[in-house]
Amino acid sequence: MIPPIADRFVAGETAEEAIDHATALNRKNVKAIVNLLGEHYHEAAPAAEDRDRYLQLIRDVDASGADAAVSVKPSQIGIDVGEETFRENLRDIISIGDSRDVFVWVDMEDHETTDITLDAYEDFARQFEGGVGVCLQSNLERTREDLERVADVPGKIRLVKGAYDEPKDISYKRKEKVNEMYRRDLEFMFAEFEAQAGIAVGSHDPKMIDYAIELHDEYGTDFEFQMLMGVRDDEQERLAREGYEVYQYIPYGGKWFSYFYRRIRERKETLLFEVRAVIG
Ligand code: FAD
Repeated sequence: MIPPIADRFVAGETAEEAIDHATALNRKNVKAIVNLLGEHYHEAAPAAEDRDRYLQLIRDVDASGADAAVSVKPSQIGIDVGEETFRENLRDIISIGDSRDVFVWVDMEDHETTDITLDAYEDFARQFEGGVGVCLQSNLERTREDLERVADVPGKIRLVKGAYDEPKDISYKRKEKVNEMYRRDLEFMFAEFEAQAGIAVGSHDPKMIDYAIELHDEYGTDFEFQMLMGVRDDEQERLAREGYEVYQYIPYGGKWFSYFYRRIRERKETLLFEVRAVIG
């Protein structure tokens, strides 16, 4: 059982609970991206276990009829074990996703993993002709070049500001600068991406949401919004009602505590108040 408050951000401990949440969201025209929590495995065995859980998750999503993609972290399926292990596990997941028509997202972790993750994305996106997406982070200086590289790849790119504390010689540290880069990267995507390269705006920031809509009106490029479960849920539903394509990222699994803790730290003021109200 996920305790109160945490259950706003995490759908449950089981895939069934996550898929039930996705099905309920679908009724409000919000689509789902289901994520099994887990990261930083340094041995092949736990990476293979989570790969298998993803294979089963994809079968379950398919059987449920839910409109749901999945999203996986590279360090959860073996990037810290070795590139080959990571690629084999990812290929298995994308391959079953392809056969069941379930889209597979690859989250992006810290800068030491970017090359291997992006190389795998490009190869599999071309091999499976879409059906796979990857996240890129505007706080990294390299991202503009990475966007140029993937502009004609048949897949999808989720643009986020970046959640990792990166070294200052390769990243932007000031919030204003990251916001400026996010806007610049978004404009590049709307203006330059080929039709087969999809755009996902991964942000809760009202300014970036408005800017994406402006860019869409200017360039006519298709795109989708992506936000996290429990963060601006009303806004997700409002955008869906307005006719935009909206996906909610839905984490689940036994390893929920550190994810929940991160969400709490981001929004200390509001959430600590609620935690106190529940624990008395
Ligand atoms: P911020 O820059 O944090 O905030 C800007 C404004 O947004 C705030 O002033 C407020 O108005 C609004 N806002 C933000 N958070 C809240 C909140 N909790 N409640 C109410 N309003 C809020 N990062 C990675 O590095 N790799 C990934 O693979 C990755 N995947 C992601 C997938 C999705 C679907 C999403 C939404 C984010 C992902 N991230 C990932 C995290 C991302 O990099 C940012 O750290 C995170 O989204 C915070 O940035 P922001 O643009 O949402 O808003």
